[in-house]
Parts: sequence; C-alpha cells; structure tokens
Amino acid sequence: MAKNFDVAVIGAGPGGYIAAIRAAQLGLNTVCIDEFESVDGRPSLGGTCLNVGCIPSKALLESSENYERALHKFGEHGINIKDVSLDVATMLARKDKIVQQFTSGIGLLFKKNKVSSMHGHGRLTGGGEAFQIEVKGKDGSETINAKNVVIATGSVPRQIPGVKVDNVSVCDNTGALSLKEVPGRLGVIGAGVIGLEMGSVWKRLGSEVTILEALPTFLGAADEGIAKEAWRIFTKSVGLDIKLGSKIDAVKVGKKAISVQFEHEGASQKLDFDRLVIAVGRVPNTQDLGLESVGVKVDARGFVEVDERNRTAVANVYAIGDVVRGPMLAHKSSEEGVAVAETIAGQHGHVNLEHIPWVIYTSPEIAWVGRTEQQLKSDAVEYRSGQFPFIVSGRARALGETAGFVKMLADAQTDRILGVHILGPFASELISEAVVAMEFGATAEDIARIVHAHPSLSEAMHEAALGVDKRFLSL
Ligand code: FAD
Ligand code: AMP
Repeated sequence: MAKNFDVAVIGAGPGGYIAAIRAAQLGLNTVCIDEFESVDGRPSLGGTCLNVGCIPSKALLESSENYERALHKFGEHGINIKDVSLDVATMLARKDKIVQQFTSGIGLLFKKNKVSSMHGHGRLTGGGEAFQIEVKGKDGSETINAKNVVIATGSVPRQIPGVKVDNVSVCDNTGALSLKEVPGRLGVIGAGVIGLEMGSVWKRLGSEVTILEALPTFLGAADEGIAKEAWRIFTKSVGLDIKLGSKIDAVKVGKKAISVQFEHEGASQKLDFDRLVIAVGRVPNTQDLGLESVGVKVDARGFVEVDERNRTAVANVYAIGDVVRGPMLAHKSSEEGVAVAETIAGQHGHVNLEHIPWVIYTSPEIAWVGRTEQQLKSDAVEYRSGQFPFIVSGRARALGETAGFVKMLADAQTDRILGVHILGPFASELISEAVVAMEFGATAEDIARIVHAHPSLSEAMHEAALGVDKRFLSL
C-alpha cells in the first residue's frame, strides 16, 4: 500500500527543509525527499547551502581571514606571532565538522516537527486526486501519494561546454571548497558572487589568483558606485587579477598545468594554472523530475514557471528557491518555503522579492537591498542620496576595517527609502536594518531620528540617512 501524505517536498535544501518543517507545524502530514549524498556516500540533508555552498564557504572564509590577520594585521595591535603557518587539512576538517553538525541537525529538526524523511531521487509520475512520486534509492524504489507537491530541487553549477569538471584539477564549488593544498596559481572563470568569494579565500591563503570574466563590466547587478570601489579594493589591495571581457577558447588539462586559452583586449592569450575553478553561475535543476507527467512547465531558461505566490499552473503543485525566478539565495528559498507551506494550509503566504537582501561575502563584504542608483536613473525616479564612509566610523577604525561606505537612496519627494548599498565590515549584518526599514515603508528621516549605539558600525547607516538631507553630523 502506497503511503499517503498531505504534502511532499522534493529537495531538502534551505527551501525544501524549511517548507517541510513549516507544513508539519501547521498540522499537515509531510514528507521531504532528498537525494544529496556526502563524498563518503551518506545521505546529507541541507542541499547546496549546507553541504557545498553558504556554510562551508563561510567556514573557509573565516579561517582564511584569521590566517591573513595573523600574518599581516596582528602586528599593529602589538601582538607578535612568530612562524605563522597554515595546516590546510585542519582547516578543511573544521569546515567539514561544521557542515556535518548542521546537516545532521536537520534530521533532528525533522524528527522534532514530525516530518517524514526519504532518501532517494524523487520523480513525479502522475496526478489525479493526489500526485504520485516515485522515490528511487540505492535499495530500490517506492511510490508515494501526496495531495500537494513542493518542488525545491535547487540548482546545479553551470557548465562550460567542452570543459570537464573533475573536482581535482578543474573544480566547481564542491571541489573549490575542498582543495587539499593551496594552489600556487589559481584560475577562476567567472567574477560573480561565487568566483569572488572562492578567489578571495584562496588568495588570502597564499594563491596567486586570476579571475577571467566574460562581461566587460564588474558586478553588474550591484550599485555602480559600490562596484567601482569594490573593483579598486579587490584589484589593488586584495590583489585579485581580474580580467574583464575575457572569452574562453579552450581549457586543456596537462600533467603539469591547466592551460586556459582566452581572448582578452583583442589578443589571444594563454595562462597556466595549478587549479581551475569554474564559477560561471548556476542553473535550475529539473533533471528527471517528471514535470511533464503532471503538466508543470519550465520557462526558456529552465526555471519552473510560478506566479507571485510560487504556484505553478497545476493546482496544488508549488515550486520555490533556486529552481524558480528571483535571486538564487538561501534566505529567499527559505522564505518561499514558509510562504507555500502557509498557502497550502489555507493561509496567505507571500514573499516580497523587492526587499531580498543580497550579500557577497568578500572582504570587505558587499550587501544591498532595493534599487541601485543606475536603476533609479533609468526608471527616471527622482532621488536623493546619502553616503557615509567607514573611515570616519570610530568602530570601523577600532576594528581596523575602514574600507567602503554605506549609501542610502531615498525618493526625492516622499523621502521613502528606495535602496541601501553597503561595502564594508559586517555589511551582511548591517543590511538587516535597511530591510526592516524598507519593509515598513520607512523614510530616510525615520532612520536619521532613530538612536544608534555608539560606537557601532550601524552609526554609518544613521549618518548615511542624515546625509540624504545633507545634514551629516560626523562628516
Ligand atoms: P538547494 O540548496 O540546491 O537544494 C536542493 C536539494 O534538492 C539538494 O539537496 C538536491 O540534491 C535535492 N534534489 C534535487 N533534485 C532532486 C530530486 N529529483 N529528488 C530528490 N532530491 C533532489 N546563498 C546565500 O544566501 N548566502 C550565501 O552565503 C551563499 N553562498 C553560496 C556559496 C556557494 C559556493 C554556492 C554554490 C551557493 C551559495 N549560496 C548562498 C546559494 C545557496 O546555496 C542557494 O541559493 C540555496 O542553496 C538554494 O536553496 P534551494 O533549497 O532552492 O536548493
Ligand atoms: P554568479 O551568477 O554571481 O555566480 O556569476 C557568474 C559570473 O560568471 C557572471 O559574472 C557571468 O558573467 C560570468 N560568466 C558566465 N559565463 C562565463 C564564461 N563562459 N566565461 C567567463 N565568465 C562567465
């Protein structure tokens, strides 16, 4: 007899596992199906984010920043450490332990919330009064029935045609997070979020890093002012060699090096690397999902088509996270997970895609919410801007992290905040104030009149808000 569920969630990344937990909390009999396995072949919940994305990359980021501080920054504090050395194996083991703790934690959360968990590949095989999903594991397959289906199958790395990823010499994010030693020369293809984060980590650990980016512009999605200053810092202070407008012609893996042939500034060039990371974006994952068996459509770019409440055109089938439109970010996936669970339970789930915070965990960090200056200009919106540099912040000085600034953009007539852009220390934390403000429809003056602790980095947000009305107090 097939098992029957109210809700079947396919995928246990930050979208799927949160959707399953919320659905179960709302009294729905819920199963979450996931196929991810760790390198040693064990089921590992949490999807890309916990296994080979957000969490391991931030663990390495912290290790590499500590290493760099010990090498170059402790001296000015009068802390002298002799013979600083790096043990990559210990650093990777720490990262793996963090991943293991978090992925196994999801199993406990499932138990606590009474979510059934199935390991294997889920594929829709038909609809009717309920949907049938075949779950294929190592030991055979089982078909279950569910009244509602949530597709949360995430994304996979985009491939470059003709370039084979072996995750030893040529890596995607999985291999880039597990390099056994610091490569002397690291090549990265793609100067997007992942390329910059991974490139920065290995640069701090000692690699010579060259990033080849196809587009002629740097960080096109970010505010132009932020992208310009980030470019200056990453190329001059951090020392990343970023070659914009590079067209990759060939990648050859030899015994001694990986050769990349590319066109740059009108000439054909060749560079040899010890390791190569491919970070040219991610594509929605709908492979062998059986969408056609129930009539769910994908768009021209392969994303599952959904409306503003994550409903597909097929009643009771929803899709969330990286597999649908919108930013490919873990927190966006999770909030969509909550929203669909609440919709299925008869409530009104909704996520405001206009106010999703974006973060790039470089050093300094980049974070923003809302619209950029170039978007406002192209939409002919009249706005005022306040920009406050961290060099004037007492807390930033004490931290020794003075690069960057906070920029606030507000409507020229109503003063309502339209966008906030941060380049600087803990930008990922600071951006939350702006998200809350914008969700509540706050004006720049609202932020300017709120008391901010001293000395804190958040004072830069306060001053940027004051700056919108040209009344800085510390500048
Ligand atoms: P995923 O996390 O991709 O999970 C999908 C799950 O579904 C996987 O476990 C997959 O195995 C499983 N699955 C797929 N198909 C099937 C099937 N048919 N049957 C069963 N299981 C299936 N985002 C941030 O917000 N902050 C960050 O700092 C950040 N850092 C990142 C760093 C890196 C290196 C990478 C690669 C990504 C990073 N991201 C970050 C992006 C983030 O990881 C994704 O946006 C997020 O994981 C998407 O969540 P999801 O639930 O939609 O899909
Ligand atoms: P993100 O989507 O943030 O991970 O960024 C991916 C980056 O890779 C973007 O800046 C793309 O322009 C870039 N990119 C995509 N394809 C190529 C390619 N073939 N060569 C170099 N860069 C690429």
